[in-house]
Amino acid sequence: MGSVPFNSETFLVIKTANPMNWFKIAFLAFTPILGIPVLAIHTYYSGFEWWMPALFFSLYCLTGLCICAGYHRYYSHRSYECSKLVQLFYAVFGAMSIQNSILQWSSGHRRHHAHAESEWDPYSIKRGFWWAHIIWIFHDDNTAYRQDNVRDLAKDPIVKWQDKWYMWIVILGGFGFPTLVGWLMGNAVAGLLWGGFLRIILVHHSTFFVNSLAHYFGEPTYDENATARDNWAVALLTFGEGYHSFHHRFPSDFRNGVRWFAWDPAKWFISTLKLLGMAHKLNATAAPKIEKARMKAAIKRVEARIAQAEPSISAELRERIQRAHDAFDSALELWRKQAKERKAGLDEQWEETRKMYRTRLKQARREWREVLRAYKALGSTDESPAT
Ligand SMILES: [Zn+2]
Ligand SMILES: [Zn+2]
Repeated sequence: MGSVPFNSETFLVIKTANPMNWFKIAFLAFTPILGIPVLAIHTYYSGFEWWMPALFFSLYCLTGLCICAGYHRYYSHRSYECSKLVQLFYAVFGAMSIQNSILQWSSGHRRHHAHAESEWDPYSIKRGFWWAHIIWIFHDDNTAYRQDNVRDLAKDPIVKWQDKWYMWIVILGGFGFPTLVGWLMGNAVAGLLWGGFLRIILVHHSTFFVNSLAHYFGEPTYDENATARDNWAVALLTFGEGYHSFHHRFPSDFRNGVRWFAWDPAKWFISTLKLLGMAHKLNATAAPKIEKARMKAAIKRVEARIAQAEPSISAELRERIQRAHDAFDSALELWRKQAKERKAGLDEQWEETRKMYRTRLKQARREWREVLRAYKALGSTDESPAT
């Protein structure tokens, strides 16, 4: 399949050819009705037991985690390698979250990153909050372009198997399994409503929030020009996916919440897999690169304020900013050197370079703190570059 050239005329032709998918619309409309009022009425008449929320919560975690750590960080971004067993786990529980097969999900998601906020972004926030949240799903996406960007995944036997049997996994796993658990506990309908419908609505909308809320509210910590935002509330619901400013700036990093206080269970899960020998080659961006991006975005936010300052003060501040910039660059150089030496098994040199790298990184951080101090001296009270 050849790729369709990117221009708005082609896009419009393709978009108008994409019909509404009434099956998806009905499904997305009926799940909340069954999952909330019908569940409430059923619970009122048939009673409440502890296993009901426990079933809901465990399936929410399993299916949600497989979307974040599996569909997203493993399949769409290839940010680490993992064993076949883990891949199978992602394929089965990911399908049970009813967000399409790995192949289709990853294709749309890779397009979201490659053409973010453009007409080719399937859930572009520029088309409005509700488009990015759910309306885009109401349309079929028949573009020839669609599967061009997942050729690597199309060869994978687990991905092919999941794509072929997707509907059966949804029916048997997504609905049949919670019904079976409910039946074993003495109430099959309650199993279906708690572990099926209620869980599906919450996994759906929390994932959808990453495309809507996390492109709308929050901090543009790593890129002032992008709509992606770091939103801790979305991260709480999505196993860490809410740190979307970081993710759009460094999409191949296995982490989304990179700072020590960030809530990112998907990152902890992947790290645990590594400890167990079930994941390797975890791709982590070098600290100086991340910190420099954060610094640049922070400076951009207060650029106007710096420009208004007295010329001598603003010149001094700019000099400090440049010094911090250079210090992060030089730390990054050393980081690259130590990584090469480590790979080559040059242990002694590596130890030495690593020590130098750490010292240089500390120095860069000190330079940045100096910038912040100098900025405060401008007497500004409204905005701070620090986030
Ligand atoms: Zn995004
Ligand atoms: Zn992504």
